[in-house]
Amino acid sequence: MGRVFRRAGVGPDDVVHNAYGYGLFTGGLGMHYAALEVGAAVVPMSGGYTQRQGKMLKDLGATVICSTPSYAQHIAEAMGEMGISRDDLHLKVGIFGAESWSLEMCRELETQLGITALDVYGLAEIIGPGVASECLIGHEGLHVAEDLFYFEVIDPDTGRPVPDGESGELVLSSLKREATPIMRYRTGDITRILPGPCSCGRTTRRIDHIKGRVDDMFTLRGINLFPREIESELLRIEELAPVFQLVLDRNSALDILEVHIEPKDHDIVHEHLIHKVKTHLNRTLGINVAVSVQEPHSIPRSEGKAVRLVDRRNLGR
Ligand SMILES: [Zn+2]
Repeated sequence: MGRVFRRAGVGPDDVVHNAYGYGLFTGGLGMHYAALEVGAAVVPMSGGYTQRQGKMLKDLGATVICSTPSYAQHIAEAMGEMGISRDDLHLKVGIFGAESWSLEMCRELETQLGITALDVYGLAEIIGPGVASECLIGHEGLHVAEDLFYFEVIDPDTGRPVPDGESGELVLSSLKREATPIMRYRTGDITRILPGPCSCGRTTRRIDHIKGRVDDMFTLRGINLFPREIESELLRIEELAPVFQLVLDRNSALDILEVHIEPKDHDIVHEHLIHKVKTHLNRTLGINVAVSVQEPHSIPRSEGKAVRLVDRRNLGR
């Protein structure tokens, strides 16, 4: 796990603000002990008390922030309301994981917090965080700890490995665990092996950011979609706050996707926004959606993993 921080350029001069939940969730204590391993000081914030998170980030001069990406976004938003800007902070790196997030969300966090946002991947069944993570220099895909895990990317239907560069389900086998070895564990996470070496010089192979989960994918009138793809497009629309929720419902035989969005400020005309979101999603993803504009700050913010998709299609039927 210490490697996650070394790849991110973190060492004894750093202060790590750890906003992953402590307790039985592997993220909190996993990141905590890893940061100590590289000699950094740790502020064990855990999740919650979001306004206090902003104050502590500023007062204690954290150089590194760790949390889920959606919670980092929530903290950034709360700081904005408190009048704390990125110039008041000393942050340089964010290490975000435990949910899949788009490149656009990554850029958004980098701008809001003045950091380089790096992805970390892991799962409780295998080890918790630390199976793979991004390096600061290459910042393109996650190096897998290949000396600890044998990994494959397979076609989820046939079970056969797909060629490098092609998307499929990540399968992991442990190489060093003794009491509870894991053989060909199907993670349910969709990714691909990135071909070629990383510019940082490390020779371990890299996987792409997790695109979604096999069971995350939903079909809207014949088109396969992941919430991350919609996130990616919504974040390109500058009048929108970087938060959304998707509600899937069924009207007689037809599936309807309602996209809940929030305007960035009160002055934006709702009709204009609805039209813009509908045409953008139709042009880029080929889907027709209903758009519902919510009051600013009404879509639930997450202190852990965000719930992006609410599927009402089978409820109560
Ligand atoms: Zn690298």
